[in-house]
Amino acid sequence: MPRTIEVLQSHGLADALLKDANQVYTISNYNYEADVGIKCAGRVTMINEPTARYPFAATQNQGVMEGILGDALLKEGAVIERPVRPTAIDLSTDENELKDPDAYPIKVRVKKLNEEEAAEELVHAKYVVGADGAHSWVRRALNVPMEGEQTAHVWAAIDFTPTPDSNFPDWRNIATVNAKDVGIMLIPREGGKIRLYVELGSEDGLVNAESGRLDSAQFSPDRLLEIAKKAFAPFVLKTTPENVEWWTVYVIGQRVASTFSVKDRVFIAGDACHTHSPKGGQGMNVSINDAHNLAWKLAYTIRGWAGTSLLDTYEFERRSFALELIAFDKWFAEGFSAKARAKLIAEGNNVDLPGPLEAFRAFSSVTTGIRIRYAPSIITATAPDKTDENGPYTLTVGKRLPPQVVLRVADRRPVNVQDLCLSNGRFKLFVFTGDVLSADDIQSLNKLTTDLDALLSELPKGLLEVFSIIKAKDDAITYMDVPQTLRPHWTSIHFDGHASGPVYDAYGINREGALVVFRPDGYVGTITPLGEVELVRQYFRQFLK
Ligand SMILES: Cc1cc2nc3c(=O)[nH]c(=O)nc-3n(C[C@H](O)[C@H](O)[C@H](O)COP(=O)(O)OP(=O)(O)OC[C@H]3O[C@@H](n4cnc5c(N)ncnc54)[C@H](O)[C@@H]3O)c2cc1C
Repeated sequence: MPRTIEVLQSHGLADALLKDANQVYTISNYNYEADVGIKCAGRVTMINEPTARYPFAATQNQGVMEGILGDALLKEGAVIERPVRPTAIDLSTDENELKDPDAYPIKVRVKKLNEEEAAEELVHAKYVVGADGAHSWVRRALNVPMEGEQTAHVWAAIDFTPTPDSNFPDWRNIATVNAKDVGIMLIPREGGKIRLYVELGSEDGLVNAESGRLDSAQFSPDRLLEIAKKAFAPFVLKTTPENVEWWTVYVIGQRVASTFSVKDRVFIAGDACHTHSPKGGQGMNVSINDAHNLAWKLAYTIRGWAGTSLLDTYEFERRSFALELIAFDKWFAEGFSAKARAKLIAEGNNVDLPGPLEAFRAFSSVTTGIRIRYAPSIITATAPDKTDENGPYTLTVGKRLPPQVVLRVADRRPVNVQDLCLSNGRFKLFVFTGDVLSADDIQSLNKLTTDLDALLSELPKGLLEVFSIIKAKDDAITYMDVPQTLRPHWTSIHFDGHASGPVYDAYGINREGALVVFRPDGYVGTITPLGEVELVRQYFRQFLK
């Protein structure tokens, strides 16, 4: 999804994903009509976000994505051990130990399964992150309950390449098909493949009463293809056995863990803390963004830069988003299922449900991840009055930095501002200097520089990177025109002179300028008037030691 691609780009990993991924731009909707079969009810643009840097969804095998992340970890010197399984976790109950930043209050016993006699090891840890999936061992070991809908739904997924005589016209778009007896979602994939998600309904009759597991005898690729054949009629959508790449049947509920951390020492992330239907294509996206949110907070705490209150913001920000997503998942699922709507109406439920196309239009506002807005906290200041949070381009506290192209002063090279906000663990201070061509402006910049120097000397070295963006279209401007603090490197100074749209206007910043602090994950932490370095200092004082 677009925001995840931006996040991957900030980690230097988007190119690797996009190289062979398929790109999806359109969603179509098909409904069943008696005597006709399914009929197209309309097509809508999938991503309706004017600020999306990547205005499409990328489809790629999750194994490829995991390979990209794994390779990046190895490059950073991380060690990935497989197969290793935890067998016991012991979290200290001694409050003093839990509060001591130098203590190792967690003991985890792990078994190395590929070694002879499965050697056991005892790991003393400061922190543990359970990113161990929907059946999370860590979550269960610490008795963290999942809350929400208890009825689980059974889904089947099958990947195949259609035969050339298949004539379903939307197989290279996402297609949601409300057939007579079943709901199917088609996703176009990389390499000319497609995936079909078949909603098989609740667990009733599909689970073996003795084993409590899905009754595998009831499923096969042939059976799934048979269901699809009927559902897509009068269109033909078929394949041959050798062109079926993969299939699965799985049970999923709409649930969120009651807490995402225990004592700010053990965390859970990803599917370990939220599960929902595959309709929004969200699970991996949300999981990557959980990790993106948590990683820098852990790093700051481990380095001793911040206290544990910073870690509290992980659950505060990510659990609220998970709850919002699940509420949306329910609304969306009912909205595009004609059957579900008919049933609710027949039962006399006075529900406010979207129609399928309305649901799709709303789809991108949640699932792209672009509109996430973290609520005020110690790392997200209360928005100043001036901020117009509804403006699509305006910088908004708690939201991500929207992409804009500026010109690098030293060589006039166009640069996307998002590429200044790399995920390197540092906060970024964007100094929107205003127009520096007048003498008054230069004088106020000198005062700003003195204040900024003082602030930088108080902060841990390397915590804050400074970038300047000058409001100017003047060709005479050089990177020497502003004091050195505002241009620590020749690549840190840019100007708003590009024909494709001046960045000041786009961000709603006037010629007086502004200071904008971005968190290490690319979200706006605070915005202050240009001269107010003291407000920036107060922002950092809220969570830095
Ligand atoms: C058919 C299907 C289609 C999907 N399609 C999409 C999609 O289009 N878009 C999307 O965003 N998401 C999709 N998802 C969801 C996505 O796969 C998950 O949300 C995502 O994988 C969650 O990542 P995770 O790292 O939290 O958990 P997982 O990917 O489940 O990873 C958990 C890891 O922990 C390991 N592990 C678990 N228990 C232990 C243990 N006790 N000891 C050691 N290791 C352990 C597992 O082996 C695994 O490697 C789909 C899911 C399914 C099933």
